[in-house]
Parts: sequence; C-alpha cells; structure tokens
Amino acid sequence: MTTRRLYYDDSFQDNFTAHVLSCEPLSDPVAGQDAMCWGVLLDQTHLYPASGGQPSDLGKLGEANVLDVRDAENDEILHVVDRPIPTGRVDGCIHWPRRFDHMQQHTGQHLLSAVFQERFGLPTVSFHLGESVSTIDLRGPQPTPQVLEGAARAANAIVFENREIAVRYGTAEQFARMGVRKQVDRTGTLRAIEIAGIDLQPCGGTHVRRTGQIGTIVLRGCTKIRQDWRIEFLCGHRAEAAARQDAELIARVAARLKCATHDVDASVERLLGEREVAAKNLKTLLPKLAEAEAASRLQALAAKSDGSRTVVEVLPGVVPEYLQFYATALARSEKVLVLFAVHESGALLFAQHPAAGHDVNALLQKVLRQFGGKGGGSKDFARGVISDPAKISDALALAQSLIEQKQTSASLA
Ligand SMILES: [Zn+2]
Repeated sequence: MTTRRLYYDDSFQDNFTAHVLSCEPLSDPVAGQDAMCWGVLLDQTHLYPASGGQPSDLGKLGEANVLDVRDAENDEILHVVDRPIPTGRVDGCIHWPRRFDHMQQHTGQHLLSAVFQERFGLPTVSFHLGESVSTIDLRGPQPTPQVLEGAARAANAIVFENREIAVRYGTAEQFARMGVRKQVDRTGTLRAIEIAGIDLQPCGGTHVRRTGQIGTIVLRGCTKIRQDWRIEFLCGHRAEAAARQDAELIARVAARLKCATHDVDASVERLLGEREVAAKNLKTLLPKLAEAEAASRLQALAAKSDGSRTVVEVLPGVVPEYLQFYATALARSEKVLVLFAVHESGALLFAQHPAAGHDVNALLQKVLRQFGGKGGGSKDFARGVISDPAKISDALALAQSLIEQKQTSASLA
C-alpha cells in the first residue's frame, strides 16, 4: 500500500500521527549499527526518505528511534527503527534541526542551479547534500572566479528578495509549457517546486517556504571532477557557522603572528621571506660549521698503532645535511672511519677514508639484518634507518664491535 507522503504538502510539520501497518525484523541493518533493527510501514508519514542527493530524516515513532528512512517497493516508505513497535496508532516526530538544515541546503541548491544555468549556461548534473558541505556538479566550461562570484551574488540577491517558494502539481506537458528547468518523461501527476519568477524544477523533496529562509549562500570551492566542475556550497546556519569558524581561525593565526587580523596575509608573506633568507644562510653556514667541528674533533682523536682513527657518536636530532657534511669532512682525513647514529630518527651514517680499508655498506647491511630497517650506499659511504629508533645505541654498538672484531683478528693474523 502506497505510503502517503505528508511532507509533500507541508514540510514544516515536525510531528504527526499515523497507523503502524507492519513491523518486521530487518536482515540489513543500518550501516555502523550492530544491534537489531526493525522495518516499519505506516499509512502516512512526515519523515523524508533518502533520495535525490538528500539524506533521510531522523526522528521517533512512539518510543522507537528512527535510524533511517528508505523508499521501498510499491511507493512505500520503510522506517528503520531500533525496537519493535505494536501495530495501530503511533505518534511520530521529526528531528527538526536536521530537517530544517536539509531544507536550507536543498532549497539553496535549487536556487544555485537555476542561477548557474540561466545566467551562466552551466547546467547541474548532480547534487550531494553532505554532513558538512554540499556540492553540485556543473557541466560546461570552467567557471571563472568572476562567474563564481556573480552566481553567489545573484543567488543571495534572490534570497534577500524573500520570494515565495510553492509546490506545483501538473503533468509533464503542463510543466514543459511553464518552462520547467529539467524535463521529465514520467506520466501522471508530477510535483515541482517553483521559486517565484526564477525557477520551476520537478522535485519530491522538502523545501523552505520563502527564499529568505535559505539564509546566506556561500560558495566554498570549485574543483574538476572528471568532465564536470564540483561547486561546494553552504546555506543558512552552515554558512553562519563557517563564517564564525573562519573568523576564529584568522584570529588565532593573527594572535600567533602577533599582528592584527587584517595584517595576517602581509605577516605570512614577511615570515616566508625571512624563512627563505634563513634557509639560504643555513645552506652557506652548515658546511663551514661541519668543517670546523670536524677539525676540532680530529685534533682530539687518538690514532691506533696502525694510524687508523675511528669516530663513534650518537648525535641528537641534527639536520641530515649537517650530518653528511660533518661525516664527509671527517672521512677526508687519512684512515678515518666514522660511525654516526641519530637519536630520534634512528638514522645511521657510516663513512670512511678509502685507506681505512673497511666496507661500510657491508657493515651497515649486517646491522640492518640484526635490527631491521633499510639503507645502502658504497664501500666508503652508506646510510640507513633502523626500524625502532629506541634501539639506535645498540645498533651503533654492534657496528663498533664488528669493526673491533675485524681489527683484532687482523692484528692476530
Ligand atoms: Zn527539491
């Protein structure tokens, strides 16, 4: 039996009375809901089923929570609830803030689509009403910033004119004569939404009564999706909330930059300039600093009987470039072997003067086999990272003991 859709004629009613015709356990519960659900059929309802890009209403039927509302076969509407309810009379109510939010976004979509099509020749090919942002996909050339601003201004002007929005019933031919925006080939009586003097569009959804109730419309972005242009928009309360959050964000950024909110852009520009200069200075100074540190380190370094010298060090978090400059500067001296590790990152860097006579890449691979990780290099220079940075001291100790074993066996031989 067809469910009578009460919201067709009054989308502002948030409670109603109906008769429960059936209530059956559902085999396909609501997504994310492990508990059992029941499907309820009523003779009539004010609850809107998910359709045409708009999510369903939520609400209550008696004591039961309505978790989802779906279009079913034979023009019936299935109410998914969290507990069984007896057949007979039931009081229903709609979660009104959600419904009104959906009406603002959805009616705003009618208006935006009409403006994009009529003024800029860009028809809407799809609509999605999301949890936080809604989108329409436009077909045609890329909307320029001027087109986007023009559409937003035109749509908001119509909002402020507070035009009437009416539900019309008629046949496809009657609507075609009235200049309907989207032709439909269905027979029988159809429902359409008319924004006075602006738009007539076939639709079975819920809408506000006047354009003023849509509230301000803001466009928040335009991206290419396959061949179309996806426009993000917010209406009414969502636009107000976004404006507030944006203002709070700018105030927070300004406070961190210690400037006025209207100076944020200039302050960021100045900061980026300073960062660029600092990076250039660092690039010039790092090799010089590494050379100086290497020279003083080498001076204090005792040589073994064969003249070889080994530098073993766990360094605190340093810039990777510096580590490389430092190791290279050390390994430029005759018979020097460098075994470096970095604390936080778990990085290893082994380097040697060729006359030191080891194979630091082979050494690194032995350490990586034991501790896990990845890395590689040449006989004289190799770097890697171990899987668990907490074990970096142990990894370095292993490398050092492998070198000492080799030196001991060489001297014994
Ligand atoms: Zn609609």
